[in-house]
Amino acid sequence: MALPPNVYDAEPIPEAAKAEIERLLKTGDLFRYTAPENSPVALLEKEFAEMMGSKYALAVASCSAALFLSLKALGLPRGAKVLIPAFTFAAVPSSVVHADCVPVLVEVADNYRIDMADFEAKLTDEISAVMISHMRGHTSDMDAIMKLAEARGIPVIEDAAHSLGTEWGGRKIGTIGKIGCFSFQSYKLLNSGEGGIMITDDPDVIARAVIMSGAYEHNWKKHPALSDRFEHWQNKLPLYNTRLSNMSAAIVRPQLAEVPRRVRDGRRNHDHVAAQLNQTPWIRVPAPLGPEQRAPDSIQFNLVDFTDEEVLSYAEAAKARGVAVQVFGLTKDNARAYWNWQFLGDTPELPQTRGMLQRACDARLPARLTPEDCDVIAQALIAAAEDVKGEARAYGT
Ligand SMILES: *Cc1c(COP(=O)(O)O)cnc(C)c1O
Repeated sequence: MALPPNVYDAEPIPEAAKAEIERLLKTGDLFRYTAPENSPVALLEKEFAEMMGSKYALAVASCSAALFLSLKALGLPRGAKVLIPAFTFAAVPSSVVHADCVPVLVEVADNYRIDMADFEAKLTDEISAVMISHMRGHTSDMDAIMKLAEARGIPVIEDAAHSLGTEWGGRKIGTIGKIGCFSFQSYKLLNSGEGGIMITDDPDVIARAVIMSGAYEHNWKKHPALSDRFEHWQNKLPLYNTRLSNMSAAIVRPQLAEVPRRVRDGRRNHDHVAAQLNQTPWIRVPAPLGPEQRAPDSIQFNLVDFTDEEVLSYAEAAKARGVAVQVFGLTKDNARAYWNWQFLGDTPELPQTRGMLQRACDARLPARLTPEDCDVIAQALIAAAEDVKGEARAYGT
């Protein structure tokens, strides 16, 4: 049988980046505000905003920095409560804490999407903002979320770190809430090692975020004009200095043209593997919601009728077959298991989310894999279930 493919390596950076990187190396022009205009970071912001159909974009050091600045740009007071899903990456509650706010965790169902009954119950007058994390690109019911939040005048921030290219009812994820945030960390669709970007149509939000990201003195003049908004906020806000460097922007810009291919191939790979996994009684890949078109580079699935011990044996069996599987809620110290966010103090008990996390498996499936690579992975994932549960039922009943 063919060996399982390497799923960790990123794609090469397009050749087109080389000339600009060479120029940056020669000139040392790495700071976004050195050149009078059209720095690589400024060009990336312009191109990204155009690609998304948003008015404004601000590139920063990470998606976490973008989430933090989003909360700060909304002007939330110290101690403000922010609703977030309990299934997300630890960086999300961390960005809330960093902004001096308090995260309130909402239950997530076994299809990895927000439990709307719990969301509605927790969206009280005490909540100042909602941060929707489209975890691994799984999209919660954005129509229902926007309707409930808008009825109360509560702003919605989309954590689309890992969801670039996903659509909801034909709209681009990250453009539905007031602010959308994306990551350029190497495991995401666009890779500059580190980096992030936020988009919005709100001139006050972007003016505040630009200044706080570190556009000190009159560096805001190197951003597209915003009538008097920059002058208005000048000197009134702290400078958190979490900018993106020109080198990172030069590495991301030529990848923008690759987005449609990466989205298409990632979806093909995911759906190809999902169809095979759903053939066994031991594995369920939850269906997407109706309006959702995902752009996955990994696959999540639930083990059915497995005990905790069997789930751990499954991860071992998959590993022995050359495919790494993480179980969000059973892999030690997993940063996506809410009870490991001890920096929050006492986390609430969320039985639905906990139950899901203890059966939900995560395997990487990058867009650059071929369908044949994906077959090898799918077969290993299925065979590992049979290793644990025995072949009889898989092929029998
Ligand atoms: C990667 C990720 C983040 C953090 O992005 P950074 O750029 O590493 O800060 C936040 N949320 C989700 C859902 C992510 O996948």
